[in-house]
Order: sequence, then structure tokens, then C-alpha cells
Amino acid sequence: MRRLPIFFVLDVSESMAGEPHAQLQRAMESIVEQLRQDPSALETVHISVIAFAGQVGTVVPMVDLMSFYPPRLPLGGGTALGEALDELMTRIEVDVKKTTPNQRGDWEPVIYLLTDGRPTDRTDAAIKRWRQHYASRAHLIAVTLGGAADTQVLKQLTDDVVSLDNGTGEDLSRFARWVSASVAAQSQALDVGKNAPGISLSKASDVGISLVKDSDAAPIDDQVVVFTGRCHRHKKPYLLKYNAVPMPGNFGASAAQGIYGLEGVYPLGEEYFEWSSESSSKASVSSDQLEGVPPCPHCGAVTTFALCSCGKLMCCNGPGQQTCPWCDANVAFGQGSGGAGFDVGRGQG
Ligand SMILES: [Zn+2]
Ligand SMILES: [Zn+2]
Repeated sequence: MRRLPIFFVLDVSESMAGEPHAQLQRAMESIVEQLRQDPSALETVHISVIAFAGQVGTVVPMVDLMSFYPPRLPLGGGTALGEALDELMTRIEVDVKKTTPNQRGDWEPVIYLLTDGRPTDRTDAAIKRWRQHYASRAHLIAVTLGGAADTQVLKQLTDDVVSLDNGTGEDLSRFARWVSASVAAQSQALDVGKNAPGISLSKASDVGISLVKDSDAAPIDDQVVVFTGRCHRHKKPYLLKYNAVPMPGNFGASAAQGIYGLEGVYPLGEEYFEWSSESSSKASVSSDQLEGVPPCPHCGAVTTFALCSCGKLMCCNGPGQQTCPWCDANVAFGQGSGGAGFDVGRGQG
């Protein structure tokens, strides 16, 4: 039996924190559930999942549908697309059987690359390698989520760049239905002996997935800013996520001067730091650009926005002394500190 290898290369950068990340998790579960109901897919489809943030890893090596167990997706700081492509090419070499005089290899692999941001690493070499050695023997479909993905970079990889960005919150479940329907159709066609017809994008627009044209605009950056902090009592990390507030009449102003409204605060696991890139954030926004400071998700302290002289954020419950959970320094917070007017480091999305 020739296998149909499907790779999911998933952006799990910090801008995905919260609902998008939860939806992505559910989307993977529902794709597998739906595909398992298709006899042809059950026989041919094999799945692998690669996750990328600042760091990259194969979270599920290639397995058949029945053995596939949806992984708990990580979250990290950064968007190492170049490294993710390198990992993908390595996995294709390892996992996809080539046709030789002695064996029929696997069908052409299909890759769904899903991202919501701009790469934070160098992508040139990986893209060049992809185009030279893989583009002709794999079908890569790049899927952008939200308006900030770098379609220029994705267009260098593949003509098939689609966007899921009407912002209804249903995006990823539509994506899941579309992926499972097109993969099932592909495996059925292969099953009845047709030559590989390839994944068709023609039905994508029926489910609200639009093909990104060459002429589409450059990415809008700085839609999301995130900060990480730690609870001063429990030392556990959290992530604050803010979204740019659209300001009419302020076109052309740098988003770095704009206002960001609080979306939410999310508790993090320590693995967040393992999936983040080494380089700390370079950009910064001033705290007076931020609207809304939530309480600590771990201990309930009134603010998550108290700054130590080490440059890191912690939670704080009012004036007094406390130990910084990052550097162990003793910090005194007076009246009004933890409030407005200081610059803070900013994650890289
Ligand atoms: Zn706390
Ligand atoms: Zn500190």
C-alpha cells in the first residue's frame, strides 16, 4: 500500500495564545476524527505534525491515522519559519519513501503550513532549498491566519497561499472541514487507481477560504503585542496579549505609536521558554500605549504589570516589598508603581 503523507507545519508563536491556539488544537483533533471515517483515508493517510515558534520540533513523527494521537501543541516566542522548513525537509527525507527499482514509494506528500505572523529567523536559504529540491515533488499549501502573516515570503514557497481571516472565530473549524474533505477526496481518487490528482483548492472559497493573490498587500505588522511575566508568589509564567486598536484618521502612523487593548492574560507552562528563541525582544512599546492590566491568573494579585529593574514583569498586589520571581532581587513597589509610564520589553510574535 502506497501511503499518502500529510505534514502539518503549525505556527505556535505567542500571537496564537488564547483562542487561536485552542482552536488549532481542536482543528487537529477534528481533522483526524473526520478522516478516520473515510475508508480510503484510513488505508493511505499518514500524518506528521511539526510545530514552530522560536524553536522548532516534530511533535508527531509520521504515523497512520489509527495510531495518530493529537498532540498537546506547545506555545513559544518567535516565528522560526526558516528552521521549520529545514525540519520539514529533513522529515520528508526520513519519512517519505522514494520510488526505486525495487519499491513503489509513497504518494507525493501534502503539506499544510499554517502561520499567523512574520518569520523572525532567516528564511532565504531554506526557501531556496525548498524550491530547488522539494517544490516539484511535494504539494505545499500555505494557510494564513489573521491579517499579519507575511504572504510575500509564503508566495516564494508556493502558489497556493490561502487565507483564513474573516475573524469570526470559526476560521479553524472551517479549515479542519476543508482539509479533511480535500484529503479524503485525494485518498479516494488514489484508491480507485487514478494518478495523483493533487489537492484541489477549487472548493476552498465555498468554505470561506480565499486564495491570496500576488497583488495582495504587504503584511500588516504590530497587530499583536505580548508580554511574559511571572507570578511573584508561585513563580509560574503568564502571557499578556494586546491587540492594536484601529484608529481612524491615524493611517500611516507607526503601529508602534498606536494603542493596544488587552485581549487577555493566559497562564503559561515552563515549556513556553523551551519553544522560544534565545534572542530577547528588541522592539518595545511604552506602557501608556496599553489599555487594560489584568489580575494575575495564578494568584489573583491586582496587577500583572509590575516591572523589576531586571527588566522582567511580575504580578503585584499593591505597595510593599516582594521578591522578583525572575532574578530573586528584593523589589519595593511604592504607590503608583506598576502603573503607567515605563517601557517594557516586547515579545516578537
Ligand atoms: Zn501572581
Ligand atoms: Zn528581577
